[in-house]
Amino acid sequence: MRCETVAVGTELLLGQVVDTNSAWLGEQLALAGIDRTHGQTVGDNLERIVSALELALGRADAVIVCGGLGPTQDDITREAVAAVMGVPLVHDDDVADRILERFAARGRRMPANNLRQAQVPRGATVIVEPQPGTAPGLVCQVGDKVVYAVPGVPYELHEIVLGAVLPDLQRRAGKQAVIRSRTLRTWGDSESGLAERLAEHMAELDQGGPTAPTLAFLPVVSRGSRCASP
Ligand code: ATP
Ligand code: MG
Repeated sequence: MRCETVAVGTELLLGQVVDTNSAWLGEQLALAGIDRTHGQTVGDNLERIVSALELALGRADAVIVCGGLGPTQDDITREAVAAVMGVPLVHDDDVADRILERFAARGRRMPANNLRQAQVPRGATVIVEPQPGTAPGLVCQVGDKVVYAVPGVPYELHEIVLGAVLPDLQRRAGKQAVIRSRTLRTWGDSESGLAERLAEHMAELDQGGPTAPTLAFLPVVSRGSRCASP
């Protein structure tokens, strides 16, 4: 089972918001034994979200797209997923009722824009539970592949991914596994010096096929960050 992630939001490309969702998804997918083979970041632009999803679906069995499920005009992940599925968006009464109930429970009037969140690509399955925010997660079948659309707000994403997406992915994968990582800390030798000493072992690992362990060097560098002058 190969899974890719797509993080949607122009604020991510501009560096205004740090994309912690992709890092968290990478960690959780590894713990669930699912290979995350690529991750993309794309702005709030329909054409570019569609092409990011198509690229991911061309390579992987499953795609998790996060962000852009909000009520405003710039939240267009639903439209992009519907375009990739080749279906229209349809109004879902149950989703609309749940959004209305949430506002009513807090004694607030629901802005009409929130009904955008009740638009669902025809044929998609709405993740009813958990639904921590107003936007429900969506499970969208595209041929024999699947796209999960989940909100960008980190705590909402966490609940929906842990509660519904990962169990569904594991069921589709048909087996339980984990991808284990171990960190061996060293000090004193340079990165290239260590690589030279380990060359023989690394060559052996390379012979082990696609599921053999891999070894990566993660030098810790502590220097101040720089930015371009305006
Ligand atoms: P909502 O239904 O709340 O509008 P949404 O799916 O539309 O959710 P966005 O509007 O794209 O999500 O983002 C909502 C907030 O979540 C952003 O202001 C940002 O703080 C945070 N966020 C979005 N994407 C990410 C990300 N990849 N990593 C970390 N935080 C993110
Ligand atoms: Mg957004």
